[in-house]
Amino acid sequence: MKTVYDQRISCPHCGHHIFVSLDTSEGDQDFYEDCAACCNPIHLNMHIDRAFNKLELHVDSDDEQIF
Ligand SMILES: [Zn+2]
Repeated sequence: MKTVYDQRISCPHCGHHIFVSLDTSEGDQDFYEDCAACCNPIHLNMHIDRAFNKLELHVDSDDEQIF
């Protein structure tokens, strides 16, 4: 069974599209990827719904949003 998926996401900082590898064999994951374009960290939250065999990916910038 395939457990690693390449998912395309867009950077919440600059909108650049990057690919991330998701390893579903480890269960739910919370991790950071650095954007290749703007180098800001992208917060990724992966949730595996085993009942529906579905993968949910939440992307956010983790910014404090203070300007
Ligand atoms: Zn970016």
